[in-house]
Amino acid sequence: MNISDSEKKELKDSLSITVVAKRLGINVVRGRFRCFFPERHAHGDRTPSVSINEEKGFFKCFVCEDVKGDVISLVRMSLGLGFENAVKWLRGDAPSIQRDMQKKNVRFAQKKVFPEKPADKFADKKILFDFLNLLSPIPLNHRAAWWLAKRHIFKPVWDKVLLRVMLDYHRVSRELRAKYSLEDLQNAGLFNSQGILRFGRHPLIIPYIDEQRRPFYFKARALDKDVEPKELNLQGSIPFPYNKAVLDGNPGIVYLCEGIIDTLTLLGYGFNAVGLPGITFKPEWVEMFKNKKVMLCLDNDKAGREAESRISGLLQAAGLETHSFGLLPEGEDINSWFTHRP
Ligand SMILES: [Zn+2]
Repeated sequence: MNISDSEKKELKDSLSITVVAKRLGINVVRGRFRCFFPERHAHGDRTPSVSINEEKGFFKCFVCEDVKGDVISLVRMSLGLGFENAVKWLRGDAPSIQRDMQKKNVRFAQKKVFPEKPADKFADKKILFDFLNLLSPIPLNHRAAWWLAKRHIFKPVWDKVLLRVMLDYHRVSRELRAKYSLEDLQNAGLFNSQGILRFGRHPLIIPYIDEQRRPFYFKARALDKDVEPKELNLQGSIPFPYNKAVLDGNPGIVYLCEGIIDTLTLLGYGFNAVGLPGITFKPEWVEMFKNKKVMLCLDNDKAGREAESRISGLLQAAGLETHSFGLLPEGEDINSWFTHRP
């Protein structure tokens, strides 16, 4: 059998390497799988070292130089076939895989349909909305304004992302109690088990809003140095990355940051920034990045670099292009880097 370069390219372009890998029985988890040579790895490659680049149709082991290649190499390595037989296998010796392994069916095909939220969850959101409505935009002379300005985060950004302060703790507490039962307020995470409104020492409220500026979650930040912890989270899981509004599905670049402060910093400089809670990236968030080129701007430290490689693996497996911002000196984050510029 002779196969020309263009035939080879056509075959490769028509296939999703991720789907082929799965059909080969390879356990692909978040764009990664265990190396064919576990004995070369620590702990038998318990944490998979081979990453898949869905866009480029490539796989590559971080450790073994010889474990890499295209979809044909993957079949060869996995089944121990020669080139010709691997091509035959891909072309149709396994008819069962033909139908659903076309590439166009794969990108975002595994789109998760989120179950309808139960009614009480909507009630929580309503309480959240009311709570945020009882707060104030940050007055220019408030210490929250100074705290933010020191980090080069200024009023246009505060307004854009609806930063709020709790100016009158007692009034907010009273009005919420007048409107809702204590149990509801506790279930919403606003009141503690002693029946007291939380966030008294964390007056800067940073909501996670969606593209319609509806709050789904927030973090509360202390402004005094001696308050520990510095941040309080609403209970429950974080529903989406911070400043999700930039993930609008239109083609473009987004800058993915570690934490809210870095996100706000880049926003202030006019970048489409979106933030992670620390270095946490939930696999189900991948599809929110649809059509975006993602510039990874995590801290240049060990944890940040490791997270970048994990996240880019996840995004690339969904066919997205990622780059590392790559300008930060060792140990710096976005905010420290920008605020040190003259
Ligand atoms: Zn390996």
